[in-house]
Amino acid sequence: MDTQAFKRSLHHSKRYNRRGFGRAKDKAGILQEAYQSSLIGSIRDNGYQLQHGRLQVKLAEAFGFCWGVERAVAMAYETRKHYPNERIWITNEIIHNPSVNDHLRSMDVLFISAEGGAKDFSCVSDGDVVILPAFGATVQEMQLLHERGCHIIDTTCPWVSKVWHTVEKHKKHEFTSIIHGKVKHEETLATSSFAGTYLVVLDLEEATLVSDYILNRSNREAFMQRFANACSPGFDPDQDLQRLGVANQTTMLKSETEEIGRLFERTMLSKYGPVDLNEHFLSFNTICDATQERQQAMFSLVDEPLDLQVVIGGFNSSNTTHLQEIAMSRGIRSFHIDTPERIGDNNTIEHKPLGEDLVIEEDFLPAGKVNVGITSGASTPDRIVEHVIQKLITLSSN
Ligand code: SF4
Repeated sequence: MDTQAFKRSLHHSKRYNRRGFGRAKDKAGILQEAYQSSLIGSIRDNGYQLQHGRLQVKLAEAFGFCWGVERAVAMAYETRKHYPNERIWITNEIIHNPSVNDHLRSMDVLFISAEGGAKDFSCVSDGDVVILPAFGATVQEMQLLHERGCHIIDTTCPWVSKVWHTVEKHKKHEFTSIIHGKVKHEETLATSSFAGTYLVVLDLEEATLVSDYILNRSNREAFMQRFANACSPGFDPDQDLQRLGVANQTTMLKSETEEIGRLFERTMLSKYGPVDLNEHFLSFNTICDATQERQQAMFSLVDEPLDLQVVIGGFNSSNTTHLQEIAMSRGIRSFHIDTPERIGDNNTIEHKPLGEDLVIEEDFLPAGKVNVGITSGASTPDRIVEHVIQKLITLSSN
């Protein structure tokens, strides 16, 4: 499909909106009331620190709601106001935060079901309003909704759209897009749908396997087995790894994306030499500012003397998971939770260790003076962070 031509025609449609409805005042009020926190404001004003008895809380200097998420949530609220009587659907969670999604449910915004991974659009009819979330939707989904006569409210973050432009550039110049991302993440699914030939690599280890293949250090069968579900249809590693462009899911670990870019640059340099490098390798920086700032702030936070770390955000939130990875890499006792209710009054915490199921840990807050680091992912409202801090204050006062 010519995805650029489709997007152009969609953008000219009267049933498509990616700019909101100009109710900036209303939406600022709604967001403030629902999600902002005066406690967090005062901690920020106090150098990101709070001292309460034996408890010392240190907040990361960049955390929580990013610009793209605020924009998406505000547009979803505006949509309800603008279409008070129409059926409104959303193709997925607006962002990866349970409380924000529940809030939308309470406003009668319906979620398109995705039992077993495949979305069921049979419920959506002509004239319905459909919101696309901050991390976007696939081009096929957009096409289906457009053809069905829906009003599309597209809250896709411009940083995500920038990645789509990047892979479209790769496609135009017949480069294969190497996408650093999680193959089943909605943003990466959407990005892949705009790419031509693509291969998704999860991390540096997978990127190294691809590099080894390019340099004739591994066999085709093992390669295809490993990447069977992570490449475009008909992918042929002997043909399709000769011209590479690197792109990424916007919320991946910045340092890893950069390392992967350098790895492929070295690989293509070694295979084709410096004169022809530009014919075989393209790279654009597509990590969003908010992700970079939050990761940077987390690196500074874990340099502090912390007894433990709490990372708050949806369990399926990629940027939150990477914040947890940073704490773990420093050997800090770190807990990833999605809601304040995970912290029990009996000093327990139900949390999700990296790549594992939820577990309950007892004796969460140690006795005596305790320094707790706190951060939250880009989809987490300040109000949730405030409730977590209040729980810590209560536990430390018992
Ligand atoms: S994390 Fe970045 S890409 Fe994602 S919504 Fe926020 S600003 Fe946009």
